[in-house]
Amino acid sequence: MRLSKYFLPILKENPKDAEIVSHRLMARAGMIKQQSAGVYSWLPLGKRVLDKVCNIVREEQNRAGAIEILMPTVQPADLWRESGRYDDYGQEMLRINDRNDREMLYGPTNEEMVTDIFRSYVKSYKNLPLNLYHIQWKFRDERRPRFGVMRGREFLMKDAYSFDLDYEASKAAYNRMFVSYLRTFERCGLKSIPMRADTGPIGGSLSHEFIVLAETGESQVFCHRDFEAFAVPGADMNYDDDAAVASIVDKWTTPFAATDEIMEKEDWARQAWDGLSEDSRVSARGIEVGHIFHFGTKYSEPMNAYVQGPDGKQHFVSMGSYGIGPSRLLGAIIEASHDDNGIIWPKGVAPFDIGLINMKPGDAACDAACEKLESALENAGLEVLYDDTDERAGAKFATADLIGLPIQVIAGPRAVADGNVEIKIRATGERETLSIEAAINRLA
Ligand code: ATP
Ligand code: MG
Ligand code: MG
Ligand code: MG
Repeated sequence: MRLSKYFLPILKENPKDAEIVSHRLMARAGMIKQQSAGVYSWLPLGKRVLDKVCNIVREEQNRAGAIEILMPTVQPADLWRESGRYDDYGQEMLRINDRNDREMLYGPTNEEMVTDIFRSYVKSYKNLPLNLYHIQWKFRDERRPRFGVMRGREFLMKDAYSFDLDYEASKAAYNRMFVSYLRTFERCGLKSIPMRADTGPIGGSLSHEFIVLAETGESQVFCHRDFEAFAVPGADMNYDDDAAVASIVDKWTTPFAATDEIMEKEDWARQAWDGLSEDSRVSARGIEVGHIFHFGTKYSEPMNAYVQGPDGKQHFVSMGSYGIGPSRLLGAIIEASHDDNGIIWPKGVAPFDIGLINMKPGDAACDAACEKLESALENAGLEVLYDDTDERAGAKFATADLIGLPIQVIAGPRAVADGNVEIKIRATGERETLSIEAAINRLA
């Protein structure tokens, strides 16, 4: 991609209302534009990262056996009356009347709708287990939208819903999602810690929040230092082996970890924390990037979602739901990975792999070197953002650092005259001068 033909509206100033670094950097790097409180347009650079994150989420959901669908954003109120949540949900729900005065809403979550899909088609235990997910915009009329896309009103959510015959099977489904979440966040360059959580308005018994530690996190969290050394399961993870999956969940749920909500409500949590030695305690701020719930028959019973079991009887299905906020994840990634000059994208989510900087466009040798690099690197499957603009070199370097591509390849007239370019690693600042051929071999 040539920067001269791209749309990268870099801002010189921080937006006034941007309280935290990820919000400032996303706005300055031309990733998002606020359209109203908590509602954003995604500009090209932001859209690319959002897509990368969604693809990681999707790959890990698929790997764990979940199946992608797409449900609408606008839902009929009647569906929510069946579960009893229409009245309970309160002011966070955006309620809409259509031209025939039918009550609709912009979905804040999809338990009811997916249960309706399930009950329309699935009648036998033989079609279970089933886990359906989608990645779709949600709207919650947050009391205090802030921190950019971290707490939007409109935000993207991956929400998965599992259906099983009984508690045992649905626990196994919960475990598969648990492990897939560990992998998903790791691939986004984040260390997440699963914490015992309150089940809130979605209800149910078993629940974990996946928390990324960051000073700007909105929750106070408490956990054991052991988590720091835990390794996340590899891509060869066998999700069909229930016992192996359960043992990973066991390992990750054994050391103490809980959010402030639990600490305030439950004595056992306070006591468990008090029982920890001083140096094994981590008390920190955290960002909730994912949340999984097991809630059994909370929706299947009132909404009549049942299957015939092997015993010939009807059983209400046992369910769970599993959310990730890809748009919030972008903020969390930047909170975890930036410096004074800008964003430092972890490899798997960077909007482009390489920023190629031509320090003197119009100079025949520089142009030729850059074109050669651009095509060789792109042919090798790398995504290259080629800065061929007429900006000053200093401004180009500042932009490259701000948008945080993992590798910069810098072609200046002096180096190019000797057949060389410079490679800079964004994360470490390391620089190395190489011949153009060697640079291509190194990167491709
Ligand atoms: P929070 O405690 O931050 O309000 P929540 O507990 O209400 O979040 P869930 O209902 O558990 O959120 O939704 C699943 C996931 O959706 C969250 O873990 C988070 O990643 C994301 N999410 C929820 N609310 C927002 C929001 N306002 N903006 C961006 N992402 C959100
Ligand atoms: Mg909330
Ligand atoms: Mg929460
Ligand atoms: Mg939650």
